[in-house]
Amino acid sequence: MNLSREQLATAVRALCADFGHDYWQRADEARAYPHEFVDGLTDAGYLACLIPEEYGGMGLGMREACVILEEINRSGGNAAACHAQMYTMGTLLRHGSEDQKRRYLPGIASGELCLQAFAVTEPDAGSDTTRIRTFADRRGDRYVVNGQKVFISRVRQSDLMILLARTTPIDEVEKRTAGLSVFIVEVRDAGDAMRVNPIDTMINHESCEVFFDGLEVPAENRIGDEGRGFRYIMSGMNAERILLASESIGDGMYFVDRASDYASARKVFGRRIGENQGVQFPIADAYMDVRAAAAVRDEAAREYDDGETRGEGPNMAKYLASRAAWKAANVAMDTFGGWGMASEYGIERKFREARLYMVAPVANNLVLSHVATHVLGMPRSF
Ligand SMILES: Cc1cc2nc3c(=O)[nH]c(=O)nc-3n(C[C@H](O)[C@H](O)[C@H](O)COP(=O)(O)OP(=O)(O)OC[C@H]3O[C@@H](n4cnc5c(N)ncnc54)[C@H](O)[C@@H]3O)c2cc1C
Repeated sequence: MNLSREQLATAVRALCADFGHDYWQRADEARAYPHEFVDGLTDAGYLACLIPEEYGGMGLGMREACVILEEINRSGGNAAACHAQMYTMGTLLRHGSEDQKRRYLPGIASGELCLQAFAVTEPDAGSDTTRIRTFADRRGDRYVVNGQKVFISRVRQSDLMILLARTTPIDEVEKRTAGLSVFIVEVRDAGDAMRVNPIDTMINHESCEVFFDGLEVPAENRIGDEGRGFRYIMSGMNAERILLASESIGDGMYFVDRASDYASARKVFGRRIGENQGVQFPIADAYMDVRAAAAVRDEAAREYDDGETRGEGPNMAKYLASRAAWKAANVAMDTFGGWGMASEYGIERKFREARLYMVAPVANNLVLSHVATHVLGMPRSF
């Protein structure tokens, strides 16, 4: 598709204009899934932007996907309602078979199938993904899955879910990262073998715990080779980190935009609060942090599009962007004074939403650890 990134940003902005503050506020208060917004994005083709044109998608790259999510969050919306449909593509497009792509991608591109769930985290393993215990036992032409996942977002809205499970026990593999496999699970066919309970969180995020009790998954739904799933899931995770960094950058710009507008209008002591350098400097400072994070994100997205598989760029982008957004969130809170906490201004909702990315999809301490050991070569602590 021939669309410049500027044209794409303008088009996404126009779509988001139909889903303003009141829409997101109502969804947040009702803890409702923003179906109308997600349908709008799907109909416009944006959620299929990474799907190649031959499978019905837009055939765009990571840099364009970043533009879409950044604009949604900059508009005051929350791309978390649908971002997984983009980042799961990292696993499916790079490592899925031709048959799997033909089976699923056209339906995802048309909106007939929803792939919004990515099931990795488990209560006992936490950030140590290699310690997951959900086990997929091969029995003939299928696998039987037993175990538990936690914080699996949008599983109730999804037809399909990407699942990471052990296929060889950890004490039987040479490297902890071996013996894991990735599957495409058809959620609607799971029946009683998959139990889903919502988790109440401080944001409207549709996160759930999921229990597998003898769930049968056809062997043809395994992505790539058995036992090499950790490597495949990393493609999805790298995409996820770059895309969620883009949401943080959008959040950061939302806070900077709102804070600078408010500071330029609000009068106290007979002058606009933004005339005080104590108010305007933190906003300028936050803006520069967001721009710096965006530059690192741009580099990571370009490298991803060029086939880079290392986690350095995606991890750094996610870390810097989440921190820049959180700083901007606090600056906006300060700028708005008491009104920052009033839901009618939207700052408090975005404040809560922006906080998530300090801990998910990877906790920032784990990013520091990655950079310290994998990039700088210092000794590992785990
Ligand atoms: C709203 C929400 C949605 C989510 N959606 C999904 C989803 O769709 N799919 C999915 O698979 N997961 C999802 N997650 C899970 C998320 O990825 C995890 O919460 C995150 O990876 C951290 O894992 P944990 O919560 O178990 O924290 P833990 O691993 O228990 O870590 C707790 C704290 O300890 C720190 N810590 C742990 N180990 C170390 C160490 N070695 N050195 C220094 N610090 C350390 C961490 O930085 C963190 O601050 C979601 C989480 C939330 C809150």
